[in-house]
Order: sequence, then C-alpha cells, then structure tokens
Amino acid sequence: MKKIILFFFLTSFAFSQSRVVEPIDSVAYYIKLADLYKNKDNFKLSLKNANSALKYASNYKDILGKSKALTTLGTTYFELKKIEEARDYFLKSINELNSLPLSSDLALNYYKLGLCYMSLEEYEIAENYFKEAENIYSSLKIENKELINLQKGILYKNKGKYTLASNIFSEIISKGDTNDDFNTKAEALYQIADIELKKNRNNLALNYLTRALSINSKGNNFEQRIKILFELSLVNDNLLNLSESHRYLKLHVNLRDSLIQLNKKRLASTDFNSIKESERVDLFEQLSKENEARQRTSRFTKLISILAIALISILSLLSLSLYKNNIIRTRSNEMLQDKNHELEIAKEKAEKASQARADFLSTVSHELRTPLNAINGITHLLLEENPKENQLHYLNSLKFSGNYLLTFINDILEINRIESKNIEVEKIDFNPKELLVNIQNSLKQLANTNNNKLILDFDENIPEMVVGDPTKMSQIFLNLINNALKFTKNGQVTVLAELFGTNNNVATIHFSVTDTGIGIAKEKQETIFDSFAQGSIEINRKYGGTGLGLAIVKKLIDLLGGNIKLESELGKGSNFYFDLEMEISSHSVEKEKEEELMLEEDIDALLEGKNVLIVEDNKINQMITKKMIEKKGMIADIIDNGEEAVEVIKNNNHHYDLILMDVHLPGINGTIATKQIRKFNQKLPIIALTAISLNENRGILLSFGMDEVITKPFEPNKFYSIISKVLSNSKSAA
Ligand code: ADP
Repeated sequence: MKKIILFFFLTSFAFSQSRVVEPIDSVAYYIKLADLYKNKDNFKLSLKNANSALKYASNYKDILGKSKALTTLGTTYFELKKIEEARDYFLKSINELNSLPLSSDLALNYYKLGLCYMSLEEYEIAENYFKEAENIYSSLKIENKELINLQKGILYKNKGKYTLASNIFSEIISKGDTNDDFNTKAEALYQIADIELKKNRNNLALNYLTRALSINSKGNNFEQRIKILFELSLVNDNLLNLSESHRYLKLHVNLRDSLIQLNKKRLASTDFNSIKESERVDLFEQLSKENEARQRTSRFTKLISILAIALISILSLLSLSLYKNNIIRTRSNEMLQDKNHELEIAKEKAEKASQARADFLSTVSHELRTPLNAINGITHLLLEENPKENQLHYLNSLKFSGNYLLTFINDILEINRIESKNIEVEKIDFNPKELLVNIQNSLKQLANTNNNKLILDFDENIPEMVVGDPTKMSQIFLNLINNALKFTKNGQVTVLAELFGTNNNVATIHFSVTDTGIGIAKEKQETIFDSFAQGSIEINRKYGGTGLGLAIVKKLIDLLGGNIKLESELGKGSNFYFDLEMEISSHSVEKEKEEELMLEEDIDALLEGKNVLIVEDNKINQMITKKMIEKKGMIADIIDNGEEAVEVIKNNNHHYDLILMDVHLPGINGTIATKQIRKFNQKLPIIALTAISLNENRGILLSFGMDEVITKPFEPNKFYSIISKVLSNSKSAA
C-alpha cells in the first residue's frame, strides 16, 4: 500500500513537473526568435536560436518542440539554398514526428522535403513526398491542396506532361483570390505562362504573365517577381515588342541586383543589435505576455494538481489505516482463535488429567480399603481375644498404623472429592448446638488423654434450628478440635459459637476453636492450610498426622461461604476462626430429639440373637464380619453372590433380621441385588457394606433401597451402633 502511495506521489510530482513552464517556454521562445531573425534576414542568429531551441527540446525530451526546431532549421537552410542540409533537417523532423500521432506538421515537413527534391531535380522522389503530404492532409481532413497541387503541376511540367500540368495550374488560377494564395496563384500563372511560352503561344503566355505580375505586386515575393519580369521580357521579345521586352528586362535586372545586395546584407548581418530596439521590446512584451498567461494557467493547473494529490493522499492514508486496522483485527482474531483453541485443548487436557487423577485416587483408595479392612478387623479381633502381654504391644502398633492409614486414605479421598467438584453443599435443617454438643461428647475421651479441658461456649441467641450442611460442619469441627486437643497438653480447648447478627432471616455466626497448646510459628501460618503442610518434621514425628486436615477444613469452609483465619503464637496457643451465614429454619427442634444416642447396654440387648445374612465375596472380609457379628451374640450366614442372596430371601427358607450387603460382588452387584429384593420385600433391613469411593456416595446407595451404609474398614463401635439403629428403626416401624 505504501508503495502505491509513493508511486502515486512520484508520478503526480513528475506530472506536475512536466507542466513547469521553463523548458517549453524556452523552445517556443527560441523558435520565435529564430523566425524573427530569419524574417529580418539575420540567418546566423536565426540558426543559432533554432539550434538553442533544438538543444532545449532534446534535453527535456519535448518531441514536438524538437521537430519544430528541426523544421525551422530546415526552412532556414532551404531559404539559404543549402538544399541538402535542409533536406536532412526535414528528414530528422519527420523522424521525430513519426513517434507522435498524425499532424499537419508532419505533412508540412513532407511537403518541404518534396520542395528540396524538386530543387535537386529529383522529381520522382519529390512526387512521392508530395503524395505523402497530400495523404496526411486528407486523412486529417485539412483543405490544403493548392500548394501541393502547384508543386505537382511544376513536376508534371518538368516532366514534359504539359496538359496535366496546365490542368492543375488552371484549377489553381480559377480559385477566388485570397491573400494567402497570392504566391500560389501568381506561381500557377507564371508556370502556365511558361508552358504556353514553350508551346510558342506567346499571346497566351503574355496574358498569364501580366496577371501573374499584377498578383505578385500585391506582396513582397521578389524572387517570383524577378522570374515573371524576365519571362515577360522574353514573351515581348518573341512578340517583337522590343521596347516592352527591354523595359521588363531592365526591371528584372534592377530587381535582381538589389536582391543580390540584400542577400549579401542578410548573410553579413550576425548581430542581434541589428533588430531595432522598439522591435525587440515588442517581441519581449509579446513573449512575456504569452509567458504570463501560460504561467497563470500553469499555476492554476498546479494548484488543482496539488489539491488532487492532497485529497487522494488523504483518501489513500485513510484506506491504508483502514486496511492496516483490518489486517491487525484479522490477525488478532486469528491469534485469539488460535489461543482459544489452545486453551480449549489445554482445558480438556487438564480436565482429563484431573479426572484421571480423581479416578486413580478413587480406585487406589478403594483397593486399599479392602485389605485395610482385613488388617484392622483382624487386629481388632486379636485384641479382643486376650492376647499375650508381649503380643499386645505389636497389636497396638498394628492398630495405630492401620488407623493412620485409614485416616490418610479417607483424607485423600475427601480432598479429592472436594477438588473434583464432585461434592454438593446440602441444605437441611439442623440444630447447631446439638451438633457441637455431640462432637464435644465424642471427643471427651481424647481430651482426657492429654489432660485437656474441652469447653463449649455457645451463644444462646443463636437460632435453635438453621439450614445448612451439618455433615461438613461436623467434619470442620472434628478436624479443628482434634488438632487443638492433639497439640495441647494440660490446657484448655474452647469451642466458641457467637451470634453476630441476623438479617432477613439469615444469621451470621462467628465460630472459633482456641487452644492453649504449642502454637504455630509465624512463618508457617501462611502455608498451614496447604495440602501436606505440617508445622515441622519434629512435630510430625511427635504428633503424627497427614498434613491434610487443615487443607480439607479450609476447602469445606470455602464451600460453605466462609473464610478461615488463624491467630497463633508459639508456645501460647492457637485460635482458628471463621464466620458463616446460615438461614434460620422455621422447623421445630422436636424431631431431632428422637435421635438420641443409644447406650452400649441397650445396643448389646438389641443385637443379641439376631439372624444376619452376610453377602460378601471376599473370604477375609467374610471371616471378619462374621466374627464381629457373632461377638455380639448374633447368628451369621454367609452367601458370596447377589443372585443366590435374592433367591434365598425370595424363597423365605430362613428368617433373617438383617442383610449386610457388600456392594462390589461378582455377577449382579449389591445395589442390583437390593433392588431386586425390594421388589418382593420392602421391610427387611439391608445395610450396604462398601469401601466407599468417589462415585458411590450414601445418597446413591440409599436410592437402591438400602437402609444404611457402613464403610469398610469398620470401626467396631460405629459398626454396632449403625446396625442397632437400623434394627431399632425396623422394629419401631413394624
Ligand atoms: P496434620 O494431620 O498433620 O495435623 P493438619 O492439616 O491438620 O495436618 O495440620 C497441619 C499442621 O498444622 C500440623 O502438622 C501442625 O503443625 C499445625 N497445627 C494444626 N493445628 C494446630 C494447633 N491447634 N496447634 C498447633 N499446631 C497446629
């Protein structure tokens, strides 16, 4: 685009430059001077100026000017009777003009060339050139026959074709008189007279010559007059008018002499000063007027050119900027599209990777839980069966390691669940005080281990029932209080719940868990909520832990719309606090009271003698579960596949109070088996046994008709409490 504009500028500039007056003025000026000097008979200066015109025109590649200068030179040489030089100039002029469209200038040059050949008596060539001139005139539709016809007539006459010649001359003579044709007509009369003279028709010749002289005397063609006077003298002589003949001869000689004198003067005069001052002033005035007019036109043309250039430049720049903008926009779009595409691919990859990680973790933790169930289960059983004193230590270590591994797997699974967004925030009614009291009760034993006081400071202004996610709340407080009790000895852990305010049925509650334990170093406080971040290696060695607890807590509080903060000082204690907004529930608190914890004696009494069907394919798990069932005085049967279990229940051969249904079974799995059983038996309690993984949450399992879910590996107390809860529910339902 830039190139186009530059080209445009250059051509416009060149165009405007070609209009500069200087060179053309110079050519025209010198030609005019040359003509003037020629008319003033100063041939030298005339030639000099014609040559200057030629030089200027050549320098500025002005073809027309060059041809005009060449014609002027030719004409001058012709007048000086230097025919061959004249001929060469006319030829050169013709050569220049041939590169231009047909013009009367070209015809004139051919005509003059013809005259040259006439003078050289090369009549054939001369005739050809006249014809050439004639053709050009007629194709240009210019009526300029007389001059050429005259020459043609002379040609015919020279060739002895007198009749043809006479016809042509007669035609010229018959035309009306005009000033321009004086010379031509007088010449035609002279020529026809010459023919008559040659035919010895002297009277006719005399007649023509007299007419010729009378026309000639109107102008200044002295050369012609000399010819006519001489011819008149001859004719009169032939007619024996001797005195007349003598008179004409005398006139002829006088005139010829003065012409010779004049020619001498002409050739001698080389001085520009020979032109009178007044004439020179006239000439310059005329030339400068013409110049001024031309310059005015030129200035106007220049102005228009400049305006046009400016306008076109602005338009070009505008187009350029639009064009550039367009290119930039297109490029940016393309780049954005490419980037979008790349991002989409990257996102897909990241999602796939994340999914793969989640699947991997889910599978691995699931697969780890089954053997862990065996380890923990058997350890539990061995500890129950009065082991020897020296075995007790090993068994306790085994129990600790098993429990650690279980917590670790649970934490990994939990964090994976939160990060994979595979987790939903529940909105159910719950009693926050009850939730915290239960947690306090369940952790009392742990508090005693380290000789800590666990205090619950609950603001009674907090609404009794709120809408929220009690499971996540429990997870949060269990983790925080567990940590506080773990890192505090002989101190105090305070759980605070305080109402900040209510607005539009929404209560803002401030929660905090404060301890008087070891505290957390300032530099660790920022990273403490990252996964696998622990206070220090020493702390880890001394207190254990996975470094995932606080990461889970933070993510859960984020999910609930809060933001956990920490204030801590080494050696003085820590305070974890956060605010949560919770909708105030309109439901009463009564229903919750039904779900009171059962006493251990009640559980044992309820379980005693119950018939339990264990549907489990793993031999070790079969053994552990059976042992745990039998330990509480229950009777257990085992079936290792779902199809058979469905058949047994259908045929009702044996009465069962409860089915413990493993979810992952060969053939139909536990969920399908439960679904089939529910088609003919809706009452029989069924509890799912599962090493629960990411995709099998409680809700899904219950939707198949199961009453409860026990996750493997079993925690004995939880195991018995869930079974007794389900059994007591079915009893009360019956
Ligand atoms: P861990 O399972 O290792 O306890 P957490 O994420 O729960 O993992 O805690 C990370 C680290 O934060 C702990 O190792 C401990 O150094 C520090 N920490 C957490 N809670 C407390 C606390 N109440 N007092 C002192 N240190 C704590």
